[in-house]
Amino acid sequence: MSDDFYDVLGVSRDASEDEIKSAYRKKAAEYHPDVSDEPNAEEKFKKVKKAKEVLTDEEARRAYDQLGHDRFEQAEKRGGFDGGAGAGAGGGPFGGAGGESPFGDIFDQFFGGGNGRRSGARPGRDLQTRLRIDLEDAYHGIEQQMTVNRPERCGDCDGAGHPPDAQSQPCSACNGRGQRTTVQQTPLGRVQQTQTCRECEGTGTVYSASCSTCGGDGQVVNETTLTVDIPAGISDGQTLRLEREGAPSESGGPNGDLLVEISIESHQEFERSDDDLVHRFALSFPQVVFGDEVEVPTMDGAATFEVPSGTQSGERFRLQGKGMPRLQRRGRGDLYVYVQVVTPESMNDDQREALKAFAEAGGEEIDVNEGFFEKLKHSL
Ligand SMILES: [Zn+2]
Ligand SMILES: [Zn+2]
Repeated sequence: MSDDFYDVLGVSRDASEDEIKSAYRKKAAEYHPDVSDEPNAEEKFKKVKKAKEVLTDEEARRAYDQLGHDRFEQAEKRGGFDGGAGAGAGGGPFGGAGGESPFGDIFDQFFGGGNGRRSGARPGRDLQTRLRIDLEDAYHGIEQQMTVNRPERCGDCDGAGHPPDAQSQPCSACNGRGQRTTVQQTPLGRVQQTQTCRECEGTGTVYSASCSTCGGDGQVVNETTLTVDIPAGISDGQTLRLEREGAPSESGGPNGDLLVEISIESHQEFERSDDDLVHRFALSFPQVVFGDEVEVPTMDGAATFEVPSGTQSGERFRLQGKGMPRLQRRGRGDLYVYVQVVTPESMNDDQREALKAFAEAGGEEIDVNEGFFEKLKHSL
């Protein structure tokens, strides 16, 4: 992508701050290194973040617009520009330009958002995270504790972004209207454009001081431990929605939701196929010839299983109702046991004699002394 900050975010040069923030959230969700398969996702994520930091800082944006991309970057490298961008302070709740990621090992993600125009109280953004559990947990259901880093309402200013005793005054840039109208003379005539005021973010009011904890955003990123109620029978890749556990609203509306994608670790004994389970079970040659009573593992402890005489290697048996619970329905899936006959790799003399006798009784001529099993192995 082009390095131009407006191109990086895919916004027009006269985009409002809200539009820039909204575009940033979408791009950040797309390129976040924890989730993106894109090549150079981390690089792109950094560019997007940098672009957002510069363009949402009024002073920096003005300088950027005046200087153009290349000269702005040069000026910044020389330290000649002292805007909020790159300085670390004053970044949004997700900023912290220094490269220290506010995302925890469990990433939080900005979804949808659509934080375009202010019109009354809109809910906060939905956040997304991922939670790994064992197959046992999916089988029994579990109340799982989970730690997430998420934006929360700043407690020091109660989300207002300024101290309670800060002086309020009408925004001088828009005369308190929250919107600015520009008129441009073009070859086609006068074009009038109305935009959300950047200075006051459309509120029409500015304050003499901003909250030092949240830098005026009204939100801070906090580490929070939540309890997730994971229902029995949940599948890998399913998403649980924790209502009102997402980001706080920026306009006094309800919180967004937290979407928890469940990832189930693979299991040593069982493979899962929807509500059914598959287990591979090794049997000896005499066991399948004569039949046997064996114990096979299930998710609820061992179960007795009758191997019929004359069982073939690769044969499949169904243990009804020994699979996974059906999510939000009655009953359980089945457990399929695949039988595999194991060829012994070493035998004692008695076994060797007995097997030789077995082969001869069936009319087979095998030179056992030269290594029947070695030969068998090589012929496979
Ligand atoms: Zn204003
Ligand atoms: Zn605050």
